[in-house]
Amino acid sequence: MGPLGKILAVIFVISFMTFVTFFGRLPALRNTPIAEVRLWPSVVFAVQIFFLVVLGGSEILYMPTAWPLLSPFTKLTALLAIALPYVFLYLACAADPGYVTPETIARLMSLYPYDYALFHPGRFCRTCNLPKPPRSKHCSICKHCIARADHHCIFINSCVGYGNHHWFLLLLLSTAVLTTYGAVLGFSILSADIRASWPAWSLWPPSNPGMTWSRWVGILSVGMRINLGLGAASMLALLISPLIWGFFLYSLYLVYCGTTTNETLKWSEWKEDMQDGYAFARHLSPNREQRNVQFEPPWTRWPAQPGRILVTTNDGQPPRPEQQIPGEGAWEPVKSLKDVDNLYDLGFWNNLKDIFIQDYPFGSRPEEPPSERRRWEGRTRNGTRYPP
Ligand SMILES: [Zn+2]
Ligand SMILES: [Zn+2]
Repeated sequence: MGPLGKILAVIFVISFMTFVTFFGRLPALRNTPIAEVRLWPSVVFAVQIFFLVVLGGSEILYMPTAWPLLSPFTKLTALLAIALPYVFLYLACAADPGYVTPETIARLMSLYPYDYALFHPGRFCRTCNLPKPPRSKHCSICKHCIARADHHCIFINSCVGYGNHHWFLLLLLSTAVLTTYGAVLGFSILSADIRASWPAWSLWPPSNPGMTWSRWVGILSVGMRINLGLGAASMLALLISPLIWGFFLYSLYLVYCGTTTNETLKWSEWKEDMQDGYAFARHLSPNREQRNVQFEPPWTRWPAQPGRILVTTNDGQPPRPEQQIPGEGAWEPVKSLKDVDNLYDLGFWNNLKDIFIQDYPFGSRPEEPPSERRRWEGRTRNGTRYPP
């Protein structure tokens, strides 16, 4: 294997590792070795260093060849494209992802109501010794419960949660733009360089009269060998950019659905229970009397309230009255996810506001007395422990 072959092999390995990093947490790969390996603590740390080295290294290989050939405007946009991923990476790492602590819990409790499906009031985290706010999840790597936990990201070496989800999305978008820009610019420079020696060769379309595929690849590899740094970095950018776009669009799709990776996994478990006939629902009054303010915030800024309670049983029979589960009326079997509303989906734009604007108020709900709201806001400001 020549030097170019070795470099291409390294590029394929890096692309594969990127794939594992991004997609290893998907439900489809949950029970595979890929899902396990990516969460070993040493792997978590190594991946972050590794990606920084690959990103910085590619730029060092790339820029000395490309820089003198760029117009002033392209230089400016190139500098911006290179800088932004580092800025967003820093912000995503440095921001508090939404750690649930005695100081923050009052505020985090007022963000979302319990949906009485995935999240029920009265559940405690035994490690943090605090109630679990709606949409939160305990992360064993961060050693905290995280508000609106999405997933623990090994690229930023932190959880993606309520406090940094927006920085994470901007990091993905800026990195996707950088790799696409890098690949397009790199191959156009390479192509111009090759055409200076072989005018009949063109990057696209590759099939000119008299140009066979093997000759096209041969000339391209000679061109890459002459500009090895630029060629290798551009090839890496070309292979990685669809992965990053794919992951960014998937993350945006979750925002569109008003859900998180964590909740997607929970819903996929519900789906199995529904198909097996173990899931039941009944009516839940929004102004219910039985709300226990020890476990459930009396007010949240969220403009929707659960209308039904969803439970699973072990025997396929509806819950018995002596279990004293909230709600009223008869239990009905739930057969499909289509029959269930997602309380946390307010439509794409509102979901996006929820991600990008911290504590976005969404207006107040008419049924809440203003005194109740003021009392709760005062408690939030003081940062006192929840429950009071
Ligand atoms: Zn916890
Ligand atoms: Zn974490």
